[in-house]
Amino acid sequence: MLSEDGLLHLWKHIYALTNDVTPLKQDCGQLCGSMCCRDWAPGVGMYLYPGEQLLLADQPWLKRQWHDSRHHIFPASWGDGGWFVTCTESCPRHLRPFSCRTFPLTPHMDETKHLTVVLDEKGRTICPLVQAGRPELLSAQFRCTMREAWKKLVCLPAIRDDVLMGSRRRENARR
Ligand code: SF4
Ligand code: SF4
Repeated sequence: MLSEDGLLHLWKHIYALTNDVTPLKQDCGQLCGSMCCRDWAPGVGMYLYPGEQLLLADQPWLKRQWHDSRHHIFPASWGDGGWFVTCTESCPRHLRPFSCRTFPLTPHMDETKHLTVVLDEKGRTICPLVQAGRPELLSAQFRCTMREAWKKLVCLPAIRDDVLMGSRRRENARR
């Protein structure tokens, strides 16, 4: 397990790596009225990944709630739970959470532990890029950078476990 300093260093690196990449060369928010940044359903928000909260402590635009693992499903390596966050106004772009950076891609690890990034079906109702069903429409730079970021992140056991859990769920849903 990385120390707190190690985690902070990793997340600073991941944020720097992904800061300037976007799904399309133009602003994809123009396709949908920036649906993923709106309250498109009651209670929508995202989880911070383990250690990410160290970068986002005390941000006034971010409302956080602790989700206890007795009441929410997390991999065992997440311990007591995780931080669920919602934004109360537009975020400073350089601090947008990693979930916002990677969407509409999500990591997938097959049974041989090969990692790819795939369209996130959970976003189908809001995102025209998911609805199009063609990851090749996303910019190559975005796809490569997100794959690189996820490859670094899955070196953390808690993130790897979360990716594995999501991948098994996805495969079961396809059957
Ligand atoms: S919902 Fe999809 S198309 Fe719209 S802003 Fe978000 S990622 Fe871009
Ligand atoms: S944190 Fe920023 S990028 Fe993420 S949903 Fe809120 S406004 Fe959009």
